[in-house]
Amino acid sequence: MPYSEQTVQSVRPWSEKTFSFTLSRPLDFKFENGEFVTIGLKQEGKMVARAYSIVSTTDRDHLEFLSIHVPDGPLTGKLAQIRPGDSVWVNSKATGSLTLNHVLPGRTLYLLATGTGLAPFISLIRDPALYARYETVALVHSVRTAAELAYREEIEALNNPQLRYVPTVTREPFPTPERGGDLFRFGTLSQRLGLPVPDPEQDRVMICGNPEMTRELTHHLKDTGWTLTNHRGVGNFTTEVAFVIHHE
Ligand SMILES: Cc1cc2nc3c(=O)[nH]c(=O)nc-3n(C[C@H](O)[C@H](O)[C@H](O)COP(=O)(O)OP(=O)(O)OC[C@H]3O[C@@H](n4cnc5c(N)ncnc54)[C@H](O)[C@@H]3O)c2cc1C
Repeated sequence: MPYSEQTVQSVRPWSEKTFSFTLSRPLDFKFENGEFVTIGLKQEGKMVARAYSIVSTTDRDHLEFLSIHVPDGPLTGKLAQIRPGDSVWVNSKATGSLTLNHVLPGRTLYLLATGTGLAPFISLIRDPALYARYETVALVHSVRTAAELAYREEIEALNNPQLRYVPTVTREPFPTPERGGDLFRFGTLSQRLGLPVPDPEQDRVMICGNPEMTRELTHHLKDTGWTLTNHRGVGNFTTEVAFVIHHE
């Protein structure tokens, strides 16, 4: 049985559509910061399980996740109701393409996230090893409404001069609606942060977001001379979709 039964320790709502929660960590569960694991609930004896990026770091004895709530979603319709003491099942194997080993060290590391795609990057920015590999880490979190800016206070409280945090909101003035991916593509981001123009020789990019944003940015980067990390080698950018769109 690859799943082990774990206990919900805490639940933290962010907005009507997003919440975080922590679980006990299986004793022998190993992962790298930035990876995802399949977690599930048993519903009428059947396991309903989905991929989830791990927000917490490897040195903690709990596992933390950031979740969407899809009202009629097979998993999150129920997961949104979990309370401390409830059970959630965790697969024994974590994997993913957003670990420190998936891009070369360099000057600036751009972490570009939409929605719950922030999750793996919270794990990475909590890891001191990140700041030894890059001079600057620019974290862009793009969401629809300001309430969905999960972990905002914690990120700001890190008060790390190497970490530049750029929250962007698409459907409300914040102060103006803007898309994080566009900021990067159009060169506005580096300009705003006073950083050099992104250069594939020196800078690195990690993308985790909705499939459209991930595709758009991947095309943009490939067209402008960047190399995607794959089984043949480590490049200067790496991606993971934050969810898959299921068509009826
Ligand atoms: C590699 C990977 C990592 C993932 N990590 C996370 C994570 O850390 N947190 C998380 O909440 N989800 C994550 N997901 C998505 C997750 O696996 C489920 O899709 C999600 O929990 C919804 O499950 P569901 O059964 O309720 O609905 P599903 O039937 O899985 O999804 C229904 C629809 O909801 C939409 N949707 C699903 N997930 C999201 C999302 N995260 N944000 C916006 N819209 C969504 C899509 O349109 C989808 O077609 C990840 C997916 C992948 C492939």
